[in-house]
Amino acid sequence: AKNDHRGVAVATGAAADDAGRQRLTTLEELRTGLDRGELTLHYQPQMEVGTGETTGVEALVRWEHPRRGLVFPDVFLPLAEHAGLMGRLTLQVLDIALAQCREWRDEGLYLVVAVNLSASNLQDTSLPGHVADGLARHGVPPGALHLEVTEEILMRDAARATEVLAELRAMGVRLAVDDYGTGYSSLAYLHALPVDDLKLDRAFVTHCDTDPRSAAIVKSTVELAHNLGMRMIAEGVENEAALDRLREWGCDLVQGYHLSRPQPADRLVTWLRERQPS
Ligand code: C2E
Ligand code: CA
Ligand code: CA
Ligand code: CA
Repeated sequence: AKNDHRGVAVATGAAADDAGRQRLTTLEELRTGLDRGELTLHYQPQMEVGTGETTGVEALVRWEHPRRGLVFPDVFLPLAEHAGLMGRLTLQVLDIALAQCREWRDEGLYLVVAVNLSASNLQDTSLPGHVADGLARHGVPPGALHLEVTEEILMRDAARATEVLAELRAMGVRLAVDDYGTGYSSLAYLHALPVDDLKLDRAFVTHCDTDPRSAAIVKSTVELAHNLGMRMIAEGVENEAALDRLREWGCDLVQGYHLSRPQPADRLVTWLRERQPS
């Protein structure tokens, strides 16, 4: 079997039957998994470069499979997308993230939570209403929610996506372009869409301390973001040298293994308290 552009396993001949059956099984399991609430979130800190303070976290979905253990999004998101389950999945993720955000606020931790949206989510004009409901239900102010969207959304109905994004933003939710630079038309995206933050893909960030081409791209992107009145977030920061360069170049926020891997909520709080004794 090889992978098609969505990362879904495709195969030919006898292997195709097996692969097809396997995919159906996983899909059935995913449906029941959604019914049973088997999705969980891990959180990765985002640090403000200027202050060294962790101001937010990115919520990353995992599937706690009863037999297979923790399943990563690369495995089941393409399947969910393919089977039209992405709307449901996103609403569950939002609900878990907002409940967690509320819990943290009650403990005096005012962390912003960033949630990922898929391109298909932005084709759904009922999304802003669901987001507003969720915020109200959990008593979370809109400013504490960030939504990350990829450039892929321009490959669908861009007018509708723009409308949905504008509505979310009007509510006070902050928007970020995720994986910036890897899409087919990054500048068209920035030109057309109402977004607040630019999240440069880790492909350009991770080796920015040693690779001159990466360095040039990062430096110019910081400037581009700032000229557009946006904040620049660098993901995939894996060592101190890269962090030093990013600080020097004026990057606003960083995220990456050098700070912390994504972790369950309770471990994240322990990590935070150890780093920022109050
Ligand atoms: P992403 O949004 O670009 O998220 C960042 C991914 O990079 C995460 O992988 C994270 O664990 C990983 N990462 C973080 N720091 C580093 C680093 O320093 N080095 C390297 N090499 N990797 C790092 P993860 O959690 O496996 O998620 C993969 C992708 O799945 C995400 O990429 C995102 O596109 C998607 N995803 C995850 N959760 C959700 C969700 O709730 N909804 C939607 N629609 N997509 C999600
Ligand atoms: Ca993301
Ligand atoms: Ca990303
Ligand atoms: Ca990515």
